[in-house]
Order: sequence, then structure tokens, then C-alpha cells
Amino acid sequence: MSSPLLDHLIEALRCLPGVGQKSAQRMAYHLLERGREGGLKLSAALAEAIERIGHCELCRDFSEEKICAICASNSRERSLLCAVESPADRLVIEQATGYRGRYFVLQGRLSPLDGIGPRELGLDRLATRLADGEVKELIIATNPTVEGEATAHYLAQLARQFDVHPSRLAHGVPLGGELEYVDRGTLAHAFGSRIEVER
Ligand code: ZN
Repeated sequence: MSSPLLDHLIEALRCLPGVGQKSAQRMAYHLLERGREGGLKLSAALAEAIERIGHCELCRDFSEEKICAICASNSRERSLLCAVESPADRLVIEQATGYRGRYFVLQGRLSPLDGIGPRELGLDRLATRLADGEVKELIIATNPTVEGEATAHYLAQLARQFDVHPSRLAHGVPLGGELEYVDRGTLAHAFGSRIEVER
């Protein structure tokens, strides 16, 4: 059997991470055989999310509004700013620690070989925030990978330019690990006992 629409669906499903030709075929057959209702819900949710979710103008996290709920909140500490690589990292810090400051989501890490530099991470916008005098401490919560460390070093230098104190999470987050997968107790502890960034 050959159906151009089926081929098209399989090809489209392959945009998901970790989904190759075989998985895409299985998903497509599943949707058509037993999951049509779920498939319709999925396609509607997908279209709406992609249409309506943008980035917060202040922190670059995903948001349906120009300014996200955390940035807009009056109850968050304005002197603390925490830089994370991804929205998933922001979420895990929010859930695992009692942090009440605000965030800046880099949406990546410095990676010159992939063409990801300061501009791609929105560091001009971060500089603007650091320059307004409200932020006193920049908590750098990049992942302890080689690129995450290089990014942390860069951010610490940027913070010092504006007389903002840069700090990092204490040990406990394993080297090469990703924050997203560190257990919550460890993360809360590492977050609570922050350390000075070495020059
Ligand atoms: Zn925001």
C-alpha cells in the first residue's frame, strides 16, 4: 500500500527528537488505527501552542504573554537573577528549591562550533537587565558540562562589568550532569549553598 498522506505524516513525525523512520511509522499506524481522537487533540494542541507561545521579553522563557507570570509578579525578589540554559532547568529549580528571585533563560549555551554566541543567547538583553541596578546577585545555574562551564565563566565576567555579584551552585551537581536529571534534594542543597565564581 502506498499513500502520499501517510508518507507525509510519517515524515512529519520525524521532527520529534529520537524518532526515526520506524518509530514514526509505528506512531502513524497507531494514530490511524486506534488513536484518531487523540491525534486530533494532539494536532489542535500543537497548532495552538506553536501559534500562541512566544518568549517573555524580559527572561526569554516561554510565555503566552509579553511578560511571563514570574517576571510580572510583585512578590519575587528583584535583587536576585538566576541564569539557566533552558525552560526545563528553570522549571526544575522552581520546583526543587525555595528560590524566590527571577530568571533569565539563555535558551542554549555558548557553543562557537555550532554558531551559538552571546547574541544567540540574548546576552545583550541580559546586560540591559544587569545594568539597571536592581539586580545584586547573578546566580549562574548552567549545567556542569564543558560548554556550560564556558558559558558560566562568560556570564560571571559580564556580571562583574555591572558590579553584580556572580555566584554558582555548590558542588553536588555531578560534573557532566544535567540539572534536569539531578535529584531534587541535591539540587535544593546545591542551590542553597552557592559559591563564589572564580576569576
Ligand atoms: Zn519572564
